[in-house]
Formats: sequence, C-alpha cells, structure tokens
Amino acid sequence: MVVSCEEVWREISNYLEGEVDASLRTAMEDHLRGCKHCTAVLDGTRNVVQLYGDERMFEVPLGFSHRLHRRLEENMPGNRRSFLGWMVAAAAAVLVAGSFEVARSSVFSRPELRSEHAQPGARVPPDMLVIVSGDGKTFHAAGCPFIHDKAHIRTIQAREALRQGYAPCVRCMKKYLTA
Ligand SMILES: [Zn+2]
Ligand SMILES: [Zn+2]
Repeated sequence: MVVSCEEVWREISNYLEGEVDASLRTAMEDHLRGCKHCTAVLDGTRNVVQLYGDERMFEVPLGFSHRLHRRLEENMPGNRRSFLGWMVAAAAAVLVAGSFEVARSSVFSRPELRSEHAQPGARVPPDMLVIVSGDGKTFHAAGCPFIHDKAHIRTIQAREALRQGYAPCVRCMKKYLTA
C-alpha cells in the first residue's frame, strides 16, 4: 500500500493513538521514513497532543464542560476526529513556514495576544534593523518617538529582538502587525 502526504495527515491522529490497522500503519511508516515534511507534521502533532493533553485540548478551545463534551462526542463520533484534523492542518500549515515554536506562538496563543502591547511580531522582516532600549520590552523602527531611555539604545536585527523577547512597538511597527 502506498499513501500520499494528504492521507498521512488525515490519519496522523489515529496513527498516534494506535487506531490505524496494521497495513496502513506500515504504509504510513514507509512514507514517513522518506518524507521530511510528514515527519515534521507527525512531530508537531505529537507535541500538540502532549502539550495540551487530550481532554484540555478539546475542552478549552471549544469551551464545553467536560460532561457536555462527552455527550457531544457520543452523539457525534466524527466530531473529535475533525477537530484533531483541524489541529493537524494548522500544525502542518505553520510547520511549512517555520518551526513548531512559531506554531505555538502564532496559532495556539493568538487569542491571548490580541492586546495592544503583545502582538506577535512574525510579520516584521527578520533582517530589518530595529532599536531596543535597555529597560524596554519593545523594539522600534529608527526615529520612533516612543523609544524610552534613549541613552541606552542599541540596534539589532528584528529576528534577534524577537528571540530576546522584545515585542514590536504597536506604533512604529503597526504596518507589520495588522493581519
Ligand atoms: Zn509526506
Ligand atoms: Zn516605536
């Protein structure tokens, strides 16, 4: 049996849970050995499952109580699978663009990051030179009037600023922050 990448993605949550039959498992393992992309998706999905845990993973995003969720699951056997499918698709999409770290910050934490002061900086060009100040938590474009502590500024690449935990200034970086 030969499976395509799409088939691997569709079955990946069942695969992780040991719910695929032996011939499909063998076919998926053959495919995974030769396909870096699917291996990355598998690792990403495994991380998601471990990070969020089976129950919380469905409870938190859907906002259901545990009991209600159980009942829904009994009544709609396909529900759980399609939600996991969505998680896999999301993991796959960001894995194409970058590492799983990016996936966690841009997809899974986005609702918490909507505040003005903590927008994800993923759209800022990584090679762009930005200004950070000694005591600030944000990075700025040169000449931004909101740079604090002008005596202790330094110029670094946006990539480095993000890596060190600085967030983009919501004023001067605005054009990179709108979705
Ligand atoms: Zn593949
Ligand atoms: Zn600024």
